[in-house]
Formats: sequence, structure tokens, C-alpha cells
Amino acid sequence: MDRISHYIDGKHWDAPAGRTGPVFDPARGVQTSEVAFADTATVDAAVAAAARAFESWRHVSLAQRASVMFAFREILNARKEELAAAITAEHGKVLSDALGEVNRGLEVVDFACGIPHLLKGSFSENVSTNVDVYSLRQPVGVVAAISPFNFPAMVPMWFFPIAIACGNTVVLKPSEKDPSAVMLLAQWFTEAGLPAGVLNVVHGDKVAVDRLLEHEDVRAVSFVGSTPIARYIYETGTRNGKRVQALGGAKNHMVVLPDADLDLAADAAVNAGFGSAGERCMAISALVVVEPVADDLVAKIAERIARLRTGDGRRDVDMGPLVTREHRDKVAGYVAAGEAAGVRVVVDGRGVSVDGDDVGFWLGPTLLDGVTPQMSVYTDEIFGPVLSVIRVNSYDEALALVNSHPYGNGTAIFTNDGGAARRYQHEVEVGMVGINVPIPVPMAYYSFGGWKSSLFGDLHAHGSEGVQFFTRGKVVTSRWLDPSHGGINLGFPQNR
Ligand code: NAD
Repeated sequence: MDRISHYIDGKHWDAPAGRTGPVFDPARGVQTSEVAFADTATVDAAVAAAARAFESWRHVSLAQRASVMFAFREILNARKEELAAAITAEHGKVLSDALGEVNRGLEVVDFACGIPHLLKGSFSENVSTNVDVYSLRQPVGVVAAISPFNFPAMVPMWFFPIAIACGNTVVLKPSEKDPSAVMLLAQWFTEAGLPAGVLNVVHGDKVAVDRLLEHEDVRAVSFVGSTPIARYIYETGTRNGKRVQALGGAKNHMVVLPDADLDLAADAAVNAGFGSAGERCMAISALVVVEPVADDLVAKIAERIARLRTGDGRRDVDMGPLVTREHRDKVAGYVAAGEAAGVRVVVDGRGVSVDGDDVGFWLGPTLLDGVTPQMSVYTDEIFGPVLSVIRVNSYDEALALVNSHPYGNGTAIFTNDGGAARRYQHEVEVGMVGINVPIPVPMAYYSFGGWKSSLFGDLHAHGSEGVQFFTRGKVVTSRWLDPSHGGINLGFPQNR
């Protein structure tokens, strides 16, 4: 069985025998490798390597940093199928979806290639007589990034390319459930010319994360994961004096108004509800239908689900397995709880027939109708292929429902009424809004992030907010001496 270990100071790190975790092939239901769990000494070694590398990397010119980034981009682009295959093997999502994830990560690398432009400061000449003022942005130092299982390549790429392009060095702690993708990324970045120690990977669990959160040389922490852990990371990291952005869980609502094109809305609900088996932080989980169109829409969605093929993501299927057996059982438990609370199970994925090994972690697409706001299928993030239909009688009722939910990551409205759509974008308390677009993931040059319990901190991921998060501002006031500047004046500096 393969053993996956850490990547520190530009090389594979032989971890001393210690704690490990299993990595599964979810479509085959078997363990394929074990991953080493870092102890505090290993985390300290990674942070020390990053701190050493920072002393030189911060002084490397923008032109050279951009050139390493371009070289990394070329390697990544040429090998994206290999990366996608590694994702499918450990996460289970279908290959085309894994490739989509890689492409969205690549967009952030493209964005980071423009770092000379992104780090431009401002300059004001002659703010007072012969005095100029200008602003700079400088790296913060060693940064830690801690990522979830559901996007094992894209989410790390939201952070490390921008952090590194800005002149920081990074210790990355990926999910222990699918750790191989970032190992490829780290090796390829070294191959592209990144100096040793600029990007380090430690695997593990709470032990590794806690050490990163308390280490005095770690200056900033980017986290993505579930809301309870995101809150913990934010509170602990900020208490320890670090800059923290912690993106949490989600419960994304898609509102369908009666005037919407119901065929397009049904396509969108199926794509966004069941893509990646619902294991996306931008998946649609709650379908809020304004009557009288719910019967029609539910029937159209059920027809489409009947055509979906669930199976091994390496085969010609639409949807793969869930990531682990425990997660599959947890999601199935939510369906059972909904059933007990009185929902109508329109399509039941618990008995799905699959194109794959029977012992995989399967749960087929599931459609629940008649869900009410008190039920756990509605209140909780399920993170599986379960779409809940909530019927309401007006736009105002739909809006109130979305705004009263504690999560505020993404949402979508489906309508042909421009006025209603514009009202929704203005009134909804959610960070990312789609208008007739079910998964409104911003491009790399915009920033990604939710509101309320979906994000702790101020700055969102990538785009200009990413650059801001990974840099500190400095303002310089300068005057080059000439004889006219002499004389004593104890007053506060004023413009003249
Ligand atoms: P998770 O919270 O279980 O794990 C995330 C990371 O935290 C992993 O690296 C994990 O090892 C670490 N971790 C787990 N328990 C910890 C603990 N007690 N202390 C310290 N660190 C700990 O999340 P997951 O199951 O890997 O990922 C799914 C979650 O991530 C969902 O809630 C999903 O909505 C969320 N997510 C959010 C976004 C977003 O942009 N808001 C994007 C992707 C995923």
C-alpha cells in the first residue's frame, strides 16, 4: 500500500513512524494508501523551512516571481489530466468534473501570473511642496492554508499561487481524505523553478492544524471547511495574533419564480444539486419554489434524475460516490430523518443501481418534496446528493426564508423578470448571487466568499481581496533634501 508523506523544503519528507490515516478509492470502497499525520515537530520543520525561504523569496523580483508562476502554469496545463485522475481516485467525482476543478484552479494561477500589475502601488507627487507620497504592498511572511476534501486541488489553488506571487512562503495542510493532488502540485511547482521551502505540505489532522495556529512564525491563515471548524480556526488564529480568513459551510437556495422557464430551471437544479454528488460548497441544496409551479417543476426534475447515471467516475457516468462510507451513511441518515418528519421522497437514492463496484460509497440522487424550515434536511448542511423542495407562496416569503438561514454562501434566482432579479440581488444576504446561473462561482479576478456563518474574517478568497489578504500596506512620505527645507517648526506636518 502506498504511503503518502509530507513535502518540506523542496523534497519528500520521511516521516517517522507515527499516526496515519486511511485514504480510500470511494468508487471501489477500498483503502488505497495511508497518509502520515504530522506531529508538532514535523509542522515546526515545515514552518522553519518556510521562514528560511521567506528571507530570500521576499526579495526576488516581480519579474522572476512571475516567470516561475508562468512556468508552473505551463506544467499544470500540460498535466491536468494526470491531476484530474488523482482527484477522481481519492475523491470519487467524475473525471470531467475533476478536470473542471483543475481548470478553475488554473484560472487563479493565470491571475497570479499578473502579479507585477496586481502589486502596483499609488503615487502622489508634490502633496506638500517637494514632498511625495506613495504606497507599497509587502508580503506578510509565512502563511498557512488548510483545505477541505471536496476540492483537493482547486481550493489550495485559491490561496498558494497568490500568496507565493505576493512574496510569501506557504505551509499547506490539505484534507487527509484526498491528499495526493497537492503533492503533485508541490512537486510541479518545484520543477517550475520555485525555490525549496517556498511551498511546503504537511498532512494530518487537528494536531497539525493546532500547531500551525499557535506557531509564532505563521502570520496568516487561510482556511476552508465546515462552519464549526472555520469558527474555531478564526477564533484561535486571531487570538494568537494572526490574520485569518476562514470560509465555512453552506446551504445554498435556488429560488424559482412562477414566470421562470421551468425546463431551464429543472436542468439547473439537477446540475447544481447533484454535480459532484452534492459535495460542493456551492451546490444547490434547497429549491424554493414560488407557487403555483412546484408540481410541474418537481415532475421535470424527477424525469431528469431518472436519466442520470451513478457510478465509478472513471467510467461514462454523471455522478460518482460519496467520499467515505461514514459520510455516505450520514447523508442517508438525513434522508431517513426527513422521511420520518413527513417529507415526500420523490426519488430515493438509497437503492440506486450503479455502474461500479457494489462496495463503493454510493448514494444516488435524492429528491425530497414538502420540506419545511424546521426539518434537519433544511436546517443543516447535508453535503450530499439530496435536493429539498420548499414550497412558498410569494417572492417575499422566499426572500425571508433565504435571509433567515444562518448560512450565506451562494444563492440563485430563476426568473424572466429583470425587476425581480434586480430586487433579489439587492435584498438577499448572501455573498455570491446567480441570476439564472445556478452555481455562481466568481472568476479568479473577482473574490470568492460567503456571508454570515459561511465566512469568518473580512477578506474573501482570490481576486484583489486575495492580494490584500496576503500583503501588508505601507505608505511612504518622502522629500529629497534641498536648502529650502531648513528651519525649526514643532507644529504637526501640514501641507503647504
Ligand atoms: P472539515 O471542516 O471537516 O475539514 C476541513 C479541514 O480542517 C481539513 O483539512 C481537516 O483536516 C481540518 N480539520 C478537521 N477537523 C479539525 C479540527 N477539529 N481542528 C482543526 N482542523 C480540523 O471539512 P471537509 O469535510 O473536509 O469539507 C467539507 C466542508 O467544507 C463543507 O462544510 C463545505 O461547505 C466546506 N467548504 C466550504 C467552501 C467555501 O468556500 N465556503 C469551499 C469548499 C468546502
